Amino acid sequence: FDQPEEKVLTKTKDNKIDPNKQYSDERGSDKDHLYIVVIGHVDAGKSTLMGRLLCDLGEVSQRTLHKYEQESKKIGKQSFMYAWVLDETGEERVRGITMDVGHAQFETKTKKVIILDAPGHADFIPNMITGAGQADVALLVVDATRGEFESGFDLGGQTREHALLVRSLGVSQLAVAVNKLDTTTWSQERFNEITKKLKAFLKQAGFKESDVTYVPCSGLTGENLVNSPTEPELLKWYSGPCLLDIIDKFKVPERPVSKPLRFSINDVFKGTGSGFCVSGRIENGVLNKGDKVLLCPTKELAEVRSISINDMTSNVAFAGDQVSVTLSGVDMQNVSVGYILSDPVQQVPVTTRFEARIVVFNVKVPITKGYPVLIHHQSLVESANIVKLKALLNKSNGETMKKKPRCLGNNSVAVVDIEVSRPICIERYKDVKELGRVMLRVSGVTIAAGLVTDIFNI
Ligand code: GDP
Repeated sequence: FDQPEEKVLTKTKDNKIDPNKQYSDERGSDKDHLYIVVIGHVDAGKSTLMGRLLCDLGEVSQRTLHKYEQESKKIGKQSFMYAWVLDETGEERVRGITMDVGHAQFETKTKKVIILDAPGHADFIPNMITGAGQADVALLVVDATRGEFESGFDLGGQTREHALLVRSLGVSQLAVAVNKLDTTTWSQERFNEITKKLKAFLKQAGFKESDVTYVPCSGLTGENLVNSPTEPELLKWYSGPCLLDIIDKFKVPERPVSKPLRFSINDVFKGTGSGFCVSGRIENGVLNKGDKVLLCPTKELAEVRSISINDMTSNVAFAGDQVSVTLSGVDMQNVSVGYILSDPVQQVPVTTRFEARIVVFNVKVPITKGYPVLIHHQSLVESANIVKLKALLNKSNGETMKKKPRCLGNNSVAVVDIEVSRPICIERYKDVKELGRVMLRVSGVTIAAGLVTDIFNI
């Protein structure tokens, strides 16, 4: 027999507005926001490509373009002008001022796309973790030039590590720009050779084939970025979408607006008025101006005085938004990057010990009991130890192969307990994905990624 249907309420128990309704009222007619992180080996052409894309979409003023053109001619490196566009935007954001380049963002037919930083150098990986932790999707740029793709892809290159990182951080949709194809006279054979290698690798890294799209292009000439191809050699064999259309087709992740508030802080700074500001991402829930929120792990109550999204003030922000908020009621000195603003009633768990299922991919010495690591959790970096090796799992079906293994080598999947030197806010992956992932690093190298499966001593 039929179960009585659950009634849809527009007001919740405590008489607050239904968050889903509030979201559709506020944002129903807006373009969806999509956060994209750009990854790839150094010199793959990431800055040039994104700069060119912004220029072609009219996000950069003629005046700025002209200035860069002149300057790059002067130093005889005209190709740099597009890269500068993006660099300037990056610097601007650091300084928190808006010049005429505006934000590193652009629009497609159905989306507003925000570009997150991802410098390509090896020592920038911690920053990239922050960027990728906030990204909905990733753009992987590879250099199609003969020899160059290979050096970026083979051991020591960053192509693999970046792809593994973003996947472990929860990014499942990927566009691959097979870039600089102008250097191979738009060779289809070269394109196929590269995509074949990447397909095999990305599948292994955990990307579904249907979630990865490959696009032949040149960031320098602008070919196939925002318009359909015009290059006769490319037209001979390619009739697929341009990069912009691929970005437009990405699925927008669901926004968990009805879950309890979780806001992860990735910057703390002095505002212009009273109070101080924190910026970060709302992982779950809704944040309203005037809300009382709990700063965790220290558990101090703070009040939200104002909210701004992309430098525009707003009365409300939702899960998935990157925002800056002005806080009062707590001392700025007591707030650190990596802290969470939580719903005061349904609080984020705070602990020093948790269980995780980890994938080990880069250790020189096998992991044994007591192994010291740095854990990266959202923007937080904290020293920790792997205190217990509980089980070694079968990679393909997740079944236990061995209980209490003595050590873990590369490519192993295992359940371990991790103890952190100080209390941190953390969630089980099944409860809040964004707060349930950790990366483990040792002397500047990412050795493993993990999902939180249990939390102790809350
Ligand atoms: P990033 O380190 O990945 O940001 O790479 P850059 O954007 O700085 O580019 C590295 C070098 O490759 C620069 O000298 C660019 O001029 C060159 N480059 C970038 N894109 C292309 C392209 O599509 N075709 C060609 N031929 N060269 C490119």
